Amino acid sequence: MPAPLYSANEGSPFAVDKEFYAKQAIRNSGASPLKTFEVPRRSGKAWTMKAGQLCRIVAIEGPQVVDFNAWNLHDTKERFWASRTRQLVGAHVNPYDQLWSCLPYLRPIITVSDESIHYGIDSDGAGCHDLLGTRCDPYVHKILTGEQLDTCCHSNLLRAVQEYGLQESDVHDVINIFQVTGLTPDTEQYFVKPCPAKKGDYFEFYAEIDLICALSACPHGDMSKPIWGEGAVDPLDICRPIGVEIY
Ligand SMILES: [Zn+2]
Repeated sequence: MPAPLYSANEGSPFAVDKEFYAKQAIRNSGASPLKTFEVPRRSGKAWTMKAGQLCRIVAIEGPQVVDFNAWNLHDTKERFWASRTRQLVGAHVNPYDQLWSCLPYLRPIITVSDESIHYGIDSDGAGCHDLLGTRCDPYVHKILTGEQLDTCCHSNLLRAVQEYGLQESDVHDVINIFQVTGLTPDTEQYFVKPCPAKKGDYFEFYAEIDLICALSACPHGDMSKPIWGEGAVDPLDICRPIGVEIY
């Protein structure tokens, strides 16, 4: 088998102190939330966090995928870089994986401290918490269907970050939290499977720097129904709200 391309020398900043992050994880530290809020289905919300705080994204009513973006609070030119992160840590994210920022900054801005799905890699080669894909957007939706959809993740993220002075070009490739994806073996095309999150499942991370974060509760809900192509439906009944807790 070929080896991963991006392999670090000993002592590089790529090494993660797993013991430190295990101690930070809420289930070990017993920390209480400073702030909690709910993001209604098919909408977005942005918030700020200080370095050293933790955030839990919670499937409060059951399966629902989440599109997530992050920026440096003090210099929003520095933002999450999904494709480099995919090369460094893999196509799906697990505890102690770090989310890296774009050039010329290139540093971990978020470390995953815990998550409750434990999906692994299934028999189709699919994993959870996806870095292969990106957000749904109204432009591709119109190309595929001929229809307008105003609640795509791209639009939800844009509306959410406007209160921090960010604009459309600041919305970037996402991590799809709670989303199971892979590539078809024959044509290597992107596929999704139904979201495995149960009520109360969470994805938790540690902020390495002061952050603006934003999420969208995807208008395609738990991904259990076809979105585009044959048999596609408007799946409002499989869309649910998402909880956010800051510690
Ligand atoms: Zn979406």
